[in-house]
Amino acid sequence: MIPTRLKIFLLISGVFSTITTGLGIYAYWRLNQENIGLNQQVSGLQSNLVSVNAGLEEEKNTNSELTQTLQIEQEKNKIAEARVAELSGTVDTFQKLSQLDAELLEKYSKVFFLSENYIPSLLVKIQEQYTTDKSKEFLIYANVTPFLQVMLTVAANEGADMKIVSAYRSFGEQTSLKSSYKFFYGSGANQFSADQGYSEHQLGTTVDFTTPELKGLSLDFQNSAGYKWLTDNAYKYGFALSYPKNNSYYQFEPWHWRFVGRSLATRLHDGGQYFYDLDQREIDQYLISIFD
Ligand SMILES: [Zn+2]
Repeated sequence: MIPTRLKIFLLISGVFSTITTGLGIYAYWRLNQENIGLNQQVSGLQSNLVSVNAGLEEEKNTNSELTQTLQIEQEKNKIAEARVAELSGTVDTFQKLSQLDAELLEKYSKVFFLSENYIPSLLVKIQEQYTTDKSKEFLIYANVTPFLQVMLTVAANEGADMKIVSAYRSFGEQTSLKSSYKFFYGSGANQFSADQGYSEHQLGTTVDFTTPELKGLSLDFQNSAGYKWLTDNAYKYGFALSYPKNNSYYQFEPWHWRFVGRSLATRLHDGGQYFYDLDQREIDQYLISIFD
């Protein structure tokens, strides 16, 4: 026989354990439900995160595309700037060349003509101290003046005193000079002075030198300290001897020096050549720097 108290205890225990179990199952079920909910939320968040990441990636790609575009634009600008600089350099060169008479570096002779209409763009008076005749006006191409005066000053300081006996001569002056040479020298004058219009003196860049002792044009100038000095140094000041011994144009004219610019004169001096030895196309390259 089971005592009544035990029965009651067992009943209560049974009811209690049923309730506990039921509560436990319910709690488990609830937890499970919550877990499922949380899992859903997590996976929701995860998928959100994936899409945010994808968005960021896209953003990044767009950014790098923008950066690339920017870089390309910058490069394009650089190229454009360089091109502008190059073009303006070319324009400068054209401008510089357009301001220089091409005649200044052309070869003249009985074959190469200089137009009778050619007049240098700017002629200035050579200071009296450098000339043989103070009563006469000697004209020279303006840009040549500093080279000429410095050359003669240095030469005088180094014991080679020289004076200018002839400088610019117009086409007309050349014509009358030619007649006077003919009067003195007959047909031999052709060998002595350039025919009218073929003279380098019409350029305004050419001078004839003499010494204070000789006073005029003379072949004796070739034996002077002045001629020796010019042969060694004139190139430094842009001057070159036009008609050396045995040239095929005229007789030897030791007194006749033409300004061709320092770079060309140096090229001639270093190469042991004369102006008329060179091809005109080679000479033309020096026009741009003639007064440098
Ligand atoms: Zn001359």
